Amino acid sequence: MKLIGVDVGGSKIEAALLSGWKIVKKVRRKTEAAKGRGAVLKNIISAIEKVFDSSVSAIGIGIAGPVNPKKSVVVESPHIPCLVNVPVKDILEKTFKVKVVLDNDARMFALGAHKIYKAKNMAALTLGTGVGGAAILNNKLEKNPRNAGEEIGHMVIEKNGRRCACGARGCLEAYVSGEAIELRYERLTGKKASAKKIADAARKGDKTAEKVIKEARDYLAKGLSMIAEKYNPEIIVVGGGVSNIREIFPDSEVKLVKSRQNLALLGAALHAQSLLNI
Ligand SMILES: [Zn+2]
Repeated sequence: MKLIGVDVGGSKIEAALLSGWKIVKKVRRKTEAAKGRGAVLKNIISAIEKVFDSSVSAIGIGIAGPVNPKKSVVVESPHIPCLVNVPVKDILEKTFKVKVVLDNDARMFALGAHKIYKAKNMAALTLGTGVGGAAILNNKLEKNPRNAGEEIGHMVIEKNGRRCACGARGCLEAYVSGEAIELRYERLTGKKASAKKIADAARKGDKTAEKVIKEARDYLAKGLSMIAEKYNPEIIVVGGGVSNIREIFPDSEVKLVKSRQNLALLGAALHAQSLLNI
C-alpha cells in the first residue's frame, strides 16, 4: 500500500511517498507564506504531484498551527496565517481523488516518533521556524489543543517575557525557535544571520553568537522540564532544523533523543492509513 505524507512548516513544505513505511520518494518546496494562500496551496499541490502516483491510497498532511479536527482546518497559524480556515483537505481530495486527513504538524511528528521509539508515554518537540509539540499518552496521541495557548510550543516559560508570533508573551517559541534565535542575534549585533550560521559563528568563538545559543539552550531546558512535569514522558524526541545545532541540547532529567529525519512525514502517512479501516 502506498501513502503520501506531507509536512507544511513555516518555511518549507515536504511531501513523501511511502511504501511499507519506507520513504521511496521525497520532495521539498518553499512554503512562501508571505505570498498568500494561492501561492502556498500551489506549492503544496506541486509537492504532492511530484510524489503522487495512481496507486496511492490516501494522503496525510500536517500543518503548523492548532487544527479543528471536526472541520479539518487550521484555526490559528502564526507562521502561515493565509491557511487559517482554508479547506485544504477538501481542495486536495478534489485534486487527487483520494482520502486526505489533515492535522497539526507536531502531532504528526509525535505519531512518527512513537512508531520508531515506541515509548508508552513520550513527548515530541519540533524546533523549526516555530516550535511545536505533542505528547503520546498510554500509546495514544493526546487530543488536539483548541488554540495556540494550549500548544507545547506556546507554554509560557517567562512571565511577561518576549512577544511571541502568536500574540502572547513569554512562550517557549519566542526563545528557542529558529526565528527567535535569529531575532535575538539581530537585536544584539544589528546583523541578520540564519540560526545555523549563528551556531557556526558560536563555534568559531563569536561571543555574541555563543551568548545567543547559550540563552536558547537555557530556555529550552526550562521548557523541557515543564514538559517533563506535565506529561511525565519516558523520552522526549526533539526534531526540526534547530535540533541540528547540537549545542542547543541542555542536560535534562528526561532522556532526550535527537529525532531521525522525516518523522512528520511518517506520522502523516500513519494518520492517512487510519482513514482506510484496514
Ligand atoms: Zn506563542
